[in-house]
Amino acid sequence: MSQFRTLDSADVFGKRVLLRVDLNVPMEHGKVSDTTRIERVVPTIREIADKGGKVILLAHFGRPKGGPDEANSLRPVAPAVAEALGRPVGFAADCIGDVAAKAIAAMKNGDALLLENTRFHKGEEKNDPAFVAELAKNGDIFINDAFSAAHRAHASTEGLAHKMPAYAGRAMQAELDALTLALSSPQRPVAAIVGGAKVSTKLDLLGNLVKKVDVLIIGGGMANTFLFAEGKAVGKSLCEKDLADTARTILKAAADAKCRVLLPVDATVAKEFKAHAPVRFADVDHVAEDEMILDIGPKSIIAVEDVVDGLKTLVWNGPFGAFETPPFDAATTQIAKTVAFLTKDGKLKSVAGGGDTVSALNAAGVADDFTYVSTAGGAFLEWMEGKALPGVEALRG
Ligand code: AMP
Repeated sequence: MSQFRTLDSADVFGKRVLLRVDLNVPMEHGKVSDTTRIERVVPTIREIADKGGKVILLAHFGRPKGGPDEANSLRPVAPAVAEALGRPVGFAADCIGDVAAKAIAAMKNGDALLLENTRFHKGEEKNDPAFVAELAKNGDIFINDAFSAAHRAHASTEGLAHKMPAYAGRAMQAELDALTLALSSPQRPVAAIVGGAKVSTKLDLLGNLVKKVDVLIIGGGMANTFLFAEGKAVGKSLCEKDLADTARTILKAAADAKCRVLLPVDATVAKEFKAHAPVRFADVDHVAEDEMILDIGPKSIIAVEDVVDGLKTLVWNGPFGAFETPPFDAATTQIAKTVAFLTKDGKLKSVAGGGDTVSALNAAGVADDFTYVSTAGGAFLEWMEGKALPGVEALRG
């Protein structure tokens, strides 16, 4: 995309390409148990290698305390990358110094090498110029394919991008394209679904969204705080009563920005929070003192689907209910299926992200039918909050 420098304008032939990737993958018994993140960066690795570049992979893993420790070593990840790539991937036990230099000197054009965890050096998270300089010795150009780490100004995410020619890899490019399509220049009408547990974790996000979208659809536990702020009794529901004023401020900001806010009109309530607990549907004016709102109700689902049906763009973060515990997954699943259907039909562009949202869409079996699902977590949320991400800003053309 034109706003950012991408692989399209990078000349990689014969170059040592420092490629920042997200390999912070889940492990079980010393083996990678979910290869989603690896698969996302394989096209970039393959493209650089096929164009004759030497692919030097830089990544962090876990949260080491600034020194080497075996539990956070990237060594067992190299075979998983090799398998996904269908080609050998070497490993060097340090990302700087002689160990890295020797391994890189032995590379031929088209080879791939994974360097050890960048966080084994304190300079990584401090973005220390001396550490950036050490990393930069290993490469001629820098390509960042790790959107999920781009909200952090670390040496391997931001420092390097200022030190050498820097470009977005294909996974980064796809993420930026999707997020631009969703929020920066969306086709209208555009709506956002914001659900999840608490308002307190999503204040910046809501504040930004009311300025950007035509409709803000609020669900999840956080809707309870808004209902409470409107004077409704929410029984034993999760509710941040001390944030009632904040909720009212958000509603006022939305009204000022001519953003329609859709709150639940009914709810699925239960006396106990457990799987398959007896439930009833209650209008939001009639939630009893001993009841909990654990999902939005059928009338609210219809209201959301009515809005979604008329949209061109939808961005979604957070489930409508406590979706991990059936039957409180019902609204999230049904609405996700509707969004997937409209997307497949070419009527809607749908972008979703945030850890729980991805799990909820996977549980509903529709994640592949959305226009784009971001697995980036924190970086996705910061983008939705309207914040500049240092690793992304450094790639602007
Ligand atoms: P978040 O990480 O803020 O997106 O929140 C996701 C969590 O919110 C999930 O674990 C859901 O189970 C939880 N959640 C959504 N709606 C409710 C609700 N009505 N009551 C309690 N928890 C909820």
